[in-house]
Amino acid sequence: MNMQEYIEDAEKALLHTYNRYQIVLDKGEGVYLYDLDGKKYLDFCAGIAVFALGYHNEKYNDALKVQIDKVIHTSNYYYNVPAIEAAKKLKKVSGMDRVFFTNSGAEAVEGAIKAARKYAYLKDGSTDHEIIAMEHSFHGRTMGALSVTGNPKYREAFEPMIGNIRFAKLNDFESVLSNVTDKTCAVLFETVQGEGGIYPADESFLKKVKALCEERDILLILDEIQCGMGRTGCMFAWQKYSVKPDIMVTAKALGCGVPVGAFLLTEHVAQNSLTSGDHGTTYGGNPLAAAAINIVLDLFEENHIIDNVKEVGSYLEETLDRLVSDYTCVKERRGSGLMQGLALTVPAGDVIHKALEKGLIIVNAGANVLRFVPPLVIRKENVDDMAAILRACLDEIEMG
Ligand SMILES: *Cc1c(COP(=O)(O)O)cnc(C)c1O
Repeated sequence: MNMQEYIEDAEKALLHTYNRYQIVLDKGEGVYLYDLDGKKYLDFCAGIAVFALGYHNEKYNDALKVQIDKVIHTSNYYYNVPAIEAAKKLKKVSGMDRVFFTNSGAEAVEGAIKAARKYAYLKDGSTDHEIIAMEHSFHGRTMGALSVTGNPKYREAFEPMIGNIRFAKLNDFESVLSNVTDKTCAVLFETVQGEGGIYPADESFLKKVKALCEERDILLILDEIQCGMGRTGCMFAWQKYSVKPDIMVTAKALGCGVPVGAFLLTEHVAQNSLTSGDHGTTYGGNPLAAAAINIVLDLFEENHIIDNVKEVGSYLEETLDRLVSDYTCVKERRGSGLMQGLALTVPAGDVIHKALEKGLIIVNAGANVLRFVPPLVIRKENVDDMAAILRACLDEIEMG
């Protein structure tokens, strides 16, 4: 079958919840993906900030193969070595104390919400606690995660959400403060908003919210699903500001393609929230998923991934800043490290379709923002190649 025939079959068989780009991706090598026709694409999406290590990484693939031949799944009724090792490594790189493995980001958010509600419940026995989340946030598509996602478009048809969620504005401390009541059990936000348009939380906002949370015994939950795992030049974005959350959620690059997530807690929260019987998962932290986390964290260290993010991230910033000065349709750059956004005055989709034709995979974050979340092993030459293609697209758009 050719690519077009596969696409037609897909449109008959798959539920239509995505307007997919009209290519079928087949294989990857380093920072490149290939479609079924063999066309090569430079990848600045990385499967939505997932495949940090680049495609066809031999050590990663081998580690998974070894685990597949040993055992893939055993359930959480028993211990398994990969999960124990992965939990120890995650504790070390995050400075958090306790780990619960999930299969996705949304599930990690669900767990964090449950932990926060239980923490508050144990304090006063009441069941009407509130969570403050942010406008323009994104935390996933399950009902709990959707309830704290600050985009009414995603929520409306699925009301009622879980109750007692209030929305404040990121980087507007007063708006958080004005939503605090004696029922508030948690403040939740992405350290760098991803889907909402690449908006980093600023240092003073983080510090003020942290101080407020400490003062009122409210839990600070940071969603590091997209901005974590080295993407901003720190293992987790909050580490740059030393504002440690009480609960942190991670996923996406954590398994580099094997579906896995986690929520992590401080010892204090762990001792005063979820306990045996309160939460569970069949797959979460299974030996295969945990083997992926282990090899990912090992390769991050061995390949000095974070050093590369710092170096190439600032090069990407300079490169994108030049686009802002050279093109009137490019308004602003935002972001940190290898998580960048370019705000445009034209629909991002116009640029994305042109880029795809020219062999560059890039995605949007909202209608008018181009999002740059490449594999973390990207080199400066790849940034130059990306910029050359992007300039060709922007030239076409500005020429009319
Ligand atoms: C992707 C994402 C999620 C949801 O993760 P899934 O694995 O798709 O459920 C939650 N929060 C943020 C910040 C994300 O980027």
